Parts: sequence; C-alpha cells; structure tokens
Amino acid sequence: VSERKPPYLRSALDSIPPYRPGRKVVGPDGRSAKLSSNESPFGPLPSVRQAIADAAADLNRYPDPAAAELTAALARRFHVPEEHVALGAGSVGLLQQLLEATAEPGAEVVYAWRSFEAYPLLTGLAGATPIHVPLREETHDLEALAAAVTDRTRMVFVCNPNNPTGTAVRETELAEFLDTVPEHVLVVLDEAYREYVQDPRVPDGVQLYRDRPNVAVLRTFSKAYGLAALRVGFLIGHPQVVDAVRKTLVPFAVNHLAQAAAVASLAAEQELLERVAVTVKERERVRAALLADGWTVPETEANFVWLRLGEDTLDFAAACEQAGIAVRPFAGEGVRVSIGLPDDNDAFLTVARTYPKRN
Ligand code: PMP
Repeated sequence: VSERKPPYLRSALDSIPPYRPGRKVVGPDGRSAKLSSNESPFGPLPSVRQAIADAAADLNRYPDPAAAELTAALARRFHVPEEHVALGAGSVGLLQQLLEATAEPGAEVVYAWRSFEAYPLLTGLAGATPIHVPLREETHDLEALAAAVTDRTRMVFVCNPNNPTGTAVRETELAEFLDTVPEHVLVVLDEAYREYVQDPRVPDGVQLYRDRPNVAVLRTFSKAYGLAALRVGFLIGHPQVVDAVRKTLVPFAVNHLAQAAAVASLAAEQELLERVAVTVKERERVRAALLADGWTVPETEANFVWLRLGEDTLDFAAACEQAGIAVRPFAGEGVRVSIGLPDDNDAFLTVARTYPKRN
C-alpha cells in the first residue's frame, strides 16, 4: 500500500494530529483516578437515570430534531426567548457548527493560547486560519485579542474560565472588550465551566450577550451537570446566529437519551449545584495545599488546577500515572489536574508533595 496521501483527502487535514485515546492508568494500590478530562466525579442523579431509562423505551424512533422540550426548558431557565437557544452534540459540536456557519478558507479565527484544544483543531478542519494570542500571566490578554482582529476575522473565542489554566476574566474588562469588537466578528464566550465560578466579578455571559447581537454564549451538560457521555451542549445567542447554527446541526445529532437526561437535569438543578459546591470546596482545598507546599498555582474558577511545569511536565505526569492518577500534560508547558473525589485529590496531593521539584 502506497504511503502517499490519496489525492481526494483535503490538505487541511495534514496539520491535524491523529487521534490518540487516553490510557487508563492503575496504581500499585489499585487506584485508577481519572483527573484528565475535567469531568464530574459524580454519576447521574437517580432522577436523571430514571429519565434515561424511561426514554430508552422509545429508541426505535428518531429523536425530536428540534429538541422542543429541552429548548423550552433552557429558555425558561435562562430567561431568554426560545429563538435564542440552539443545541449541539456537546459544545464541541456547536463549535464545529459555528465554524461551518462563519468560516471559509481565508477567514481568521482568533483566540488566546493556550486554551481549549478543539479551537485549533476545528478551525484547521474548517480550512480557516487560527490566530493565537498568547496568554498573559496565564490569563486572557483582551487588549491583544482585540488588536488581533482584522477584516478577515470571523470569530473570536473567549474561554471563560480558561481551559487549561482555570483563570477567568472579569466583567468590566470583558464588557469593554466586547464593545470594541467590530460587528463583522462573532464573539463566542465559551463558558463550559461557568457553574464552578465563585468570583462575583466574573460575568455571566448570558447577561453580556443580551444587548450585543454579535455575542453568543456556549454552555454544556458535560461538566457540572455530569452528562459528558451523552453529548449535549447549547448556545445562547441572537436569532440569526441561532438559525445559522441550527442549520449546521447534523440531523438528529442530539439524541433522545441526551435530550431526556438534560431536561431531567435542569429539573434537578439544585441537587446538581450541591455537587458543584463539593467540587468547588475541594478545588480550594487542593489549591491551598499545593500553595502551602510551595507550588505556584494560578487562581482557578473551574474544576481543575494548572501547574506550569515546563520541561518537567511529562516527568510529573508520569509520577501521577505511577500512582494511578491520570492527569493532562501539555508537553513543555504544564499539567492540568481535574478536581475529583476527596480521596483521589488526596492521592494527587501526595504525589505533588513528594515530587522532588517545584514549579
Ligand atoms: N469548551 C471547553 C472550554 C472545554 O474544556 C470543553 C471540554 N473539555 C468543551 C468546550 C466541550 O465540551 P463538550 O463538547 O463535552 O460540551
């Protein structure tokens, strides 16, 4: 078989690294903690499981393509009209839909870096040009982001809180930034971790988008709501953006179980937020312990902490793996560690405490 790339494959794929699945790691004590994907450590609530089981009776039918019940529930929850809500197969699905709706080859998509890895991946896949604006002290440099906008820019992503650093931009600076972005650019506020935010100075994007037609907000059921496996995310934006995003959804991509589970999760929001409070408390405990041990850890508003480790990144991640803890290394940069259950967090802290170096 020839190694030459077949001529029918697009060159846009060349820059995209092949998919590498995460490995399950097991420590000597049998521990296997997955602190690598920012998931909720809690399984679905009993009421959500029941809704999924009930919905399973209808699996011979296609799902509601309009997801009417979920759309209505989200509109009520966020006090927005239903025409302002679009659904996708995870918020990553919505990112792809947004790119399909806005970016042709030659278009530029601007975002801070390092940030969520799907931004370069999906921008490249769309054949558009990614423009990376370096973080400043682990946080978004909004002035530099604004300065990177050109006539060719179609979208700017602002990940708030930022994955993987956990840092969040504040209301005054973000509002000011949004007001300077020209109207030919759509600003997407990616708020996948919004439910974990405690700092009252960090804005709720749903408040910021209201008076700004070129601002949309992305949220997900994958993190605080604990439904990562079901793939359901949503966008809140103005009707023309929502219509465009709805047009680019693969038909029936938001499946029936996902719709039912998301509706049931919204009905059980109070219980889910109690779990979020546990994670937030653990986050503060983990960060305080790391700081007390001499580590440098940026303030985090998400369900993970970031350790900038530079050249020690892979070595530290290997030490975690040996103890049965999967973390997320970014070679040469740092390690992102999700907040899990207290016992797993303690095991991680033990690795960090006994690691011979600090960052
Ligand atoms: N945005 C950010 C910032 C993320 O970190 C993630 C998941 N890691 C997503 C979006 C996508 O999540 P999902 O597709 O599960 O909704």
